[in-house]
Amino acid sequence: MPSVRTRIAPSPTGDPHVGTAYVALVNYCFARKHGGEFVLRIEDTDQARSTAESERAILDALHWCGLTWDEGPDVGGPHGPYRQSERSSIYREYADKLLAGGYAFKCFCTPQRLEEMRAVQRASAQPSRYDGHCLSYTPEEVARREAAGQPYVIRMRVPDEGVIVVDDLRRGPIEFDYKSVDMQVLVKSDGLPTYHLANVVDDHLMEITHVIRGEEWVSSAPKHLLLYSYFGWQPPEFVHLPLLRNPDKSKLSKRRNPTGILFYERMGYLPEALINFLGLLANATREGEDELMDLTALVRRFELEHIPVGGPVFDVAKLDWLNGRYIRERLDAASFVRRVEEWAVSPERLTKIAQLAAPRIERLSDLAPLLAFLFSGRLALRAEDFKNVKLDAPEMREAFTLALREFDALPAWNVFGIEDVLKRIAQTLGKKGRDLARPFYVAITGSTTSIPLYDSMELLGRDIVRERLRGALEVV
Ligand code: GLU
Repeated sequence: MPSVRTRIAPSPTGDPHVGTAYVALVNYCFARKHGGEFVLRIEDTDQARSTAESERAILDALHWCGLTWDEGPDVGGPHGPYRQSERSSIYREYADKLLAGGYAFKCFCTPQRLEEMRAVQRASAQPSRYDGHCLSYTPEEVARREAAGQPYVIRMRVPDEGVIVVDDLRRGPIEFDYKSVDMQVLVKSDGLPTYHLANVVDDHLMEITHVIRGEEWVSSAPKHLLLYSYFGWQPPEFVHLPLLRNPDKSKLSKRRNPTGILFYERMGYLPEALINFLGLLANATREGEDELMDLTALVRRFELEHIPVGGPVFDVAKLDWLNGRYIRERLDAASFVRRVEEWAVSPERLTKIAQLAAPRIERLSDLAPLLAFLFSGRLALRAEDFKNVKLDAPEMREAFTLALREFDALPAWNVFGIEDVLKRIAQTLGKKGRDLARPFYVAITGSTTSIPLYDSMELLGRDIVRERLRGALEVV
């Protein structure tokens, strides 16, 4: 077995995030640097939120970044299946082992009882933690309830006293009081595992040696470590990476900034510039070193020890500068043309655009003004652009704000979903669909005559649309 096996384990519940590319890149570099292997595993235990489109988009986006993996749902491998939804029977077997060993127990508490328990804990400012109620049941009582068909979940046991220490390779030992560790649900009442059980079982069975993931998982690490000890397994090394930050040090969040990989793709960043940029966030250059470097160079100079412990700043100005350098210094005329073609007019995209534009033009030269918004980044909108619309400024602000939220929550980005959202907003505001559409038209296309609104939005992609709505909110 190679000495190093790392993994990226995305949950397919939304658009591919730059943070996922960052964590994937670090895992990729570490594995490649040590001649190890890099695995991609889909963590779709949240069946209600996971979608096949999101999975495809994440894989495509990581490929677009130039990353490849040795094992995964698309390439196979000896430790498959690599999609957790296809591994249910494996988790069940391991949950049974925990039950048999007394490391886990069946919990019959109703949602109502749990809510009452939490209310009491809140009122006395205690941490929210399962109180162990069902631990007092005798085996006969458990059997009786099961036979009566009472639904139950399986929870892990957590010692009442003492501390557990997570040894993070980058941060050093982090101590957790058992009192702050919840008796986590491992198997839900539908028999499917939660993230925690599936994650630990898979990391073990897939022989992962280093779990390198975002710092939002630090608080899960004590539970995971306990599970490793219950199973009698050697835990992997853990590294929790700091979250990417905005220049003002706040957490990079899609509510405030574009965080989707597709946004950067549609804005016309080159994948090698984006990956170079993310690589520098993980390992900054030293005195005199050129910041422009490809993936091979990033791997060569990668050091886990050099990853900053404080959150690296996602500074778009720096990305712009790097991207410009790639365009000027790394693309010859032929490859530049090829890139422009790929970006602007892939055959599939061009077909769609041409079909939408044809009914609305008289000369081919009408195309550029009609379609310029599709090939632009941010639009230079002014308050006057919105003067001939039937909504006043507070109504427009409300409409755009609602749309930002609802678009974010749409499971799939297509004309149907977009239309539903706008119809709902028109209803909420008591406006006619047509009157509502107009300010959106201006916000998205910068003009009042263009190709149909919903198609335009679909073509632009969710992140660009949200960015333009944010831009419109700044001027209305
Ligand atoms: N599925 C988790 C995520 O979406 C993976 C966390 C981990 O790497 O353990 O980030």
